[in-house]
Amino acid sequence: MTNKIDILTLFPDMVGAAFQESIIARAVSKGLLTLNCHQIRKYTTNKQGKVDDYPYSGGPGLVMAYQPIADCIRALSAEASAQGDNSEKPYVIYMSPQGKPFNQKKAQQLVQKEHIMILCGHYEGVDERVLEEFVDEEVSLGDFVLTGGEIPAMAVADCIARLIPGVLAEGSAEKESHTGLLLEYPQYTRPAEIEGKKIPEILLSGKHDEIEKWQVATAEKRTMQKRPDLYKIYQEEKIKSQTYYFDNSATTRQDDSVTEEMCDIVKFLYGNPSSLHHMGLEAERKLTEARKKIAETIGATDKEIYFTACATESNNWALRGYLEANPRAGKKILISSTEHPSVGETAAFLEKSGYQVERLPVNNMGIVDLDALKGAITADTAIVSVMHVNSETGAIQPLKEISAIARTINPNVIVHSDCVQSYGKIPVRIKELGVDMISTSAHKIHGPRGVGFLYIKSGIRIAPLLCGGGQEKGLRSGTENLPAIAGFALIAEKACHNLAENENTVRELNNIFRQTLQEEIRACVIISSEDTCPYVLNVAFPGLRAEVIQHSVEQKGVYISVGSACSSHKKDRSPTLTAMGYNNNVIDGAIRISFTYQNTKEQAEFAAKVICAEVKKLYGRRKGSR
Ligand code: PLP
Repeated sequence: MTNKIDILTLFPDMVGAAFQESIIARAVSKGLLTLNCHQIRKYTTNKQGKVDDYPYSGGPGLVMAYQPIADCIRALSAEASAQGDNSEKPYVIYMSPQGKPFNQKKAQQLVQKEHIMILCGHYEGVDERVLEEFVDEEVSLGDFVLTGGEIPAMAVADCIARLIPGVLAEGSAEKESHTGLLLEYPQYTRPAEIEGKKIPEILLSGKHDEIEKWQVATAEKRTMQKRPDLYKIYQEEKIKSQTYYFDNSATTRQDDSVTEEMCDIVKFLYGNPSSLHHMGLEAERKLTEARKKIAETIGATDKEIYFTACATESNNWALRGYLEANPRAGKKILISSTEHPSVGETAAFLEKSGYQVERLPVNNMGIVDLDALKGAITADTAIVSVMHVNSETGAIQPLKEISAIARTINPNVIVHSDCVQSYGKIPVRIKELGVDMISTSAHKIHGPRGVGFLYIKSGIRIAPLLCGGGQEKGLRSGTENLPAIAGFALIAEKACHNLAENENTVRELNNIFRQTLQEEIRACVIISSEDTCPYVLNVAFPGLRAEVIQHSVEQKGVYISVGSACSSHKKDRSPTLTAMGYNNNVIDGAIRISFTYQNTKEQAEFAAKVICAEVKKLYGRRKGSR
């Protein structure tokens, strides 16, 4: 806690006067704070007592010189350490319109420093070398200019001093404007009525709970009216703190860094990448940079990345586009029986147009039966499509083995993988996995909606998805969605860089749910085995209906999903859980909890408890109704 403030100024009497009365003067006399003002001029070495000189860069005004300030700071620091009253080096602040804006949060940080020196500039400011050598932080009162740093220094010293314990009456600094996100509620004093104006009745009721509610409601109202900027932050924080979002396989909250990047592009880089003028070239440069970044995340080249609007589009295009461009590649398509509908339905569509589709069985952990794959591959198999991580259970398919087996039997086969639930979460390196095409989507990894990519290994022919202006090498025409593409590249790079760290965080959250649910609900069936991707946890409560569980936990702010959110509007039972051999009693009670590294341990503990409590209630009701 601050116990000493030194103010370094050319006008010590002016500054000192501010602290000779009232609260700060009492704090000084009680010994809670030592506050001194020091005349910088006293430290000059020239006979005239000159503290300033003309700026080298020319122009009007004078600049405070290095020497007297340096000597003043050094002398005061030496004095403090000789007295032994401060173990820390003094923290030097320079009051300047170029500094970081001062606010209550900054005051709360600064009061933690034992000894603060506030340097007041005057005239045109101080020699830059003073800032480089001595100043820890430049602080500004706002975007305006005063004649010197004295008035801001008084404000800063006052604001810090009143936060020192004992300076104000206990609790006074807790519920005021800018300590939280709301402005303070209105204050009234006696009499209760004056000139016909009454105070709000509730304040005379003596009902403390009601009065507290009134305080919050009025604080919210006046913040909304007077400071809509603060109110917006308050609302965002309120929503965040009351929302326990565990449906991250359905979609994720767009990261703020992505939003900022996108806003910058929308505002400043709005040229069309196909335009030949400077703005077009700048946009094209950004597009190329994004494509390179994305390519690096999977070990591909930028020429192999094709931006699309989503993974559904990528999956459709991969299968239909390849078969259309390669009519002699074969008539057989192999997919797993647990594919996302964007692959499953595309295969069904192709089946209707004459292709033969075989759906490979999976074992009870959801892993593709490799013997069945061996038996199914023939010389007529054109394409094998198996998702990397299952969106409902987190099961990780052995893609490397799948592509090796497929190629050993038919070297011409193309292996495609829907990597929506693995990309940015576990390593996806195309060469190691042995895949020819992969699909991804940005919104599953805190990126924007409306953008994904299809990786197509160079040399593979594919029919254009959209004809037109020739974008995406003539295969997917249409002006590129640059803000979304750049946002995707930014978050993909971050996610792929932090894979291991994020996975550890998520595994811990996953374990909290596993353990709590297993310990508290005897009937629960953990469908996702421990070696699945930790971003997804599928748990069933046999005999209950997943939709009912979902709606009851939602009342407490906990968001989870029933099966796969992408297809939950369909009433059919999950084909994935059916293929894994679960009976309807289990499937109907299966919920999916899905994670992000942005979830916290506290959120997981709270949400796991809520699910347990609601599930117990629902089981209790079932018993009662029998
Ligand atoms: N593939 C998988 C495995 C998914 O989980 C999803 C969406 O949940 C999709 C594809 C579709 O992704 P998009 O919403 O980008 O079309």
